[in-house]
Parts: sequence; structure tokens; C-alpha cells
Amino acid sequence: MAYPETRTFWLEPTDRITTGLRRYADRNLGGGRAEFTCASGYHSALVFTGEDDAVCDERDGYRVLAVRPLVRRDDPQWPTHCACGYAFADDDHWQEWQELIYQRADNGERYTLRERQASDVGGLPAAPPGATWDAWWMPASWAGPDGIHLMVRLPNGRDWNVDSEASNCTRPGEPHQCWVRHGDPRECRVTVDKNGYTCAAGAGSIQAADYHGFLRDGLLTAG
Ligand SMILES: [Zn+2]
Ligand SMILES: [Zn+2]
Repeated sequence: MAYPETRTFWLEPTDRITTGLRRYADRNLGGGRAEFTCASGYHSALVFTGEDDAVCDERDGYRVLAVRPLVRRDDPQWPTHCACGYAFADDDHWQEWQELIYQRADNGERYTLRERQASDVGGLPAAPPGATWDAWWMPASWAGPDGIHLMVRLPNGRDWNVDSEASNCTRPGEPHQCWVRHGDPRECRVTVDKNGYTCAAGAGSIQAADYHGFLRDGLLTAG
């Protein structure tokens, strides 16, 4: 499978969230290797209900969205069935859902980051390939030199944490950058290579599942 060259763009977090109600059942899921599918006993349904102001909290040193207020279980907005027909039982999980809304810096389009499931009802579209953003919730010590934790949504939809350690790093645990990035991510002209204080892993490219390519001058190469 080959993916087309993809131009990157910057997403700014907003101070708003989309809210939703989610039911899921996992009690029949086999331990360990089971897949999260209806056939293996996992059922899930998410209905988006609106928007609200984002409220942040701190938990274990991470900045997180504060837990949402509980919604009464007799609220008719709760999903009752999985798309496969499974009817949720009272003791299946009840989850007050939220996702932070992001806005494209160049044209104002609004997205959330999580991949949308076909069964989701409502909500905003997921950020498409080429989206880049700061994973602001990660510890400061994991950020790049500019304080940004750069995330890049690749042409195949996988997310690349550019400031993380590569799986084939030759200096694991030592301070350096496996991927060296150049340019202000907000200007969408970032190049990633090995020109800097780095390790011997790779040539600055990213391999994620069936995509392999480079980020050069704000363009993800076809791959
Ligand atoms: Zn199901
Ligand atoms: Zn490395």
C-alpha cells in the first residue's frame, strides 16, 4: 500500500471539549491477547451530546482533563445497544466521555484527535493525516528543545511522536534526539533528519506499520 505525499498543518488546542456518553462491555473478553471486537466479547457505543468548556486537572504529574460530572443513568441519551445488537447490561461500564477540541491554525477547521469509530454518533471529525500538534499533557522532560511534544499524524493515520525514543535507538535512556527536527512546528515547514545530537538509529525517517517516509520542509513523503 502506498500513501500520497501529505502536507502538514498545525492544530491549536481550544478551551472547549466535545462531550459524550459511552457504554462498553468487556467482562467476557478473554485475558491478554483478545481483540477489542464484538466477536471476542467487547462491545462499545459512544454518543456525542454537545460541547462544554474544558477544565484541566493534574494527576500523577500529568495535566489531564478533569473528570466529568456524573450523568444520571436514566438519562435517555445513554446508548442502549452496541452496533452489533448487544444490549448493555446495568453492570456494564458507564463512561462520561470528553475530547478536547483542536482548531486548524490556518483555516479554523475543528477536530478531535481520537480516531472515530464507525459506530460513533455525532462528534467532530478526527484530525486527518498531516495534522501536527503539541502533546501538551506529556511530562516537560519529554519535550523537544522548544518545549513542544511534536505529534504528526502520518499518511496511514498512525501518530508519530517525533520527540520520543525510536524503537531501534542505539543510545536508549541517554539524553539526545533520535529524530532531530528543524523549524517551528507552528509554521508547518519542519524537517526531521539526523543533523544534531542524535544516535545511530535510522536516517531520520519514520516507519509506522505500512507507512515509511520522511518529513521534509513540512511535507510527509509518499510511502
Ligand atoms: Zn457489539
Ligand atoms: Zn536514539
